[in-house]
Amino acid sequence: MTDYNGYIATETIDGDEDGPLAGRTVAVKDNISTEGVRTTCGSKMLEDYVPPYDATVVSRLKSAGATIPGKTNMDEFGMGTTTETSAFGAVENPVAEGRVPGGSSGGSAAVVAAGDADMALGSDTGGSIRCPAAFCGVVGIKPTYGLVSRYGLVAYANSLEQIGPIAPSVEEAAELLDVIAGPDERDGTTREAPAAGEEYAEAADGDVDGLSIGVPTELVEGADEAVVETFWDAMAELESQGATYHEVDLPSVEHAVEAYYVIAMSEASSNLARFDGVRYGQSGGYDGNWNESFANAREEGFGEEVKRRVLLGTYALSAGYHDKYYKKAQDARAWVKQDFDEALSDADVLASPTMPVPPMKRGESLEDPLTMYLADANTTPVNLANLPAISVPAGETSEGLPVGLQLVGPAFGEKTIIRAGSALA
Ligand code: GLN
Repeated sequence: MTDYNGYIATETIDGDEDGPLAGRTVAVKDNISTEGVRTTCGSKMLEDYVPPYDATVVSRLKSAGATIPGKTNMDEFGMGTTTETSAFGAVENPVAEGRVPGGSSGGSAAVVAAGDADMALGSDTGGSIRCPAAFCGVVGIKPTYGLVSRYGLVAYANSLEQIGPIAPSVEEAAELLDVIAGPDERDGTTREAPAAGEEYAEAADGDVDGLSIGVPTELVEGADEAVVETFWDAMAELESQGATYHEVDLPSVEHAVEAYYVIAMSEASSNLARFDGVRYGQSGGYDGNWNESFANAREEGFGEEVKRRVLLGTYALSAGYHDKYYKKAQDARAWVKQDFDEALSDADVLASPTMPVPPMKRGESLEDPLTMYLADANTTPVNLANLPAISVPAGETSEGLPVGLQLVGPAFGEKTIIRAGSALA
């Protein structure tokens, strides 16, 4: 265990002897299934759940020779931006005292930032890899939807999420991506990347000469002053290395957070229906009424944020409101996709601050879910558009708080964002 509470469990899982990751430790977020090792999703509901199989990414880590030093703490079922909704206690930011590490993969970013793992896997439904990477001053990649298998990832909102790497440098994150990426017959949404066969790690050569960067005005305007300043410093650094930038418009992103939360909560309400205390989760007891038994299990096992989302998601999908909320959100999603495609038709990558704010003080956002949702303004549009994005350290505010720079690429353009990001980290 760590004093900042980064791990839920520190059971070591050994990999094969040889392989590209031999001798290295890769911590795994606790919503990714590990055979014979407890996988809690940060929830009391799954406190004692031990999966009978490995997620595909975990089998790939093992055959690559990696050692898994433990399962990392997270917001319950991935629902959060601060890693404070975990049933196993909040995670502290190891590099910014009194601040949150970001979320929901806060444990993964924290153990990497603290040097308690060489690298880590997180999952990103609406920013959960990029946000904690930004807040802890490390690198995180959210791959293109379909590049990495989700088999064995406990679903939160499956149309939005991907597993991805967190590491101290872009090159190491790319090395980890090389191991986990690629089609999997157990996940029908995976696809062969167009340039398969070449290594992502090789793209981390720092060469940004001639790179054209679009800067979406909407994703910079709303950010904190200290964040914006650090962002432009990093942009100036890229420019000095030969990149050019121009402003682009993404008018649809104004609606992205709303659309994201409607879709994510709707999918969550359906995905979490399986936790009824019979097939999974803690038992709700039984005295002749199954509905009561399910209700007891869910009342006991789920935390407040999860309950809020299941209720809202169920409401958004209900017969009378489906068209008003869910369908509208899907329309907005299509618009966001189209906007990104257009912006990327005359830029190689798009750049913005990863998070509009520096790491929040601990305890601040739990009282105010709406403010917490709005902090996802820059990350959620990328999931709606299924695109790849990387968060690299851009520098620090004058208070010494880490700021992340997000680079978004075209579908399966991981090499481009890796190359661009490696000029900074
Ligand atoms: N903060 C977002 C949410 O709570 C993103 C979470 C995630 O990517 N898993 O939904």
